[in-house]
Amino acid sequence: MRELQLGDIIDDYCIKCKRLTNHSVVSILNAQPAKVRCRTCYHEHDYRHEQPPPSRRDLKKQALFREVLSTIAPEATSAEGKKPRARGKKSAGP
Ligand SMILES: [Zn+2]
Repeated sequence: MRELQLGDIIDDYCIKCKRLTNHSVVSILNAQPAKVRCRTCYHEHDYRHEQPPPSRRDLKKQALFREVLSTIAPEATSAEGKKPRARGKKSAGP
């Protein structure tokens, strides 16, 4: 495998073009492309290892999932925390 050089053309995912496009390497770190520039729209960005970003739908799903978790988790923890305290107060009465 030959060494990567500045200006080399590699495939990467362009978030502007929303697809895999040819990119030229503009920065190299540890023999890996660090920054690349899309050859189609000239948008410069960090090398993404050809991975597209999570879609908006996935982000929405994650947000929904977190919302559900936050509604379930606090109830479970607060209900368990209240029980022993309520007992102690009652026995302290008349
Ligand atoms: Zn592009």
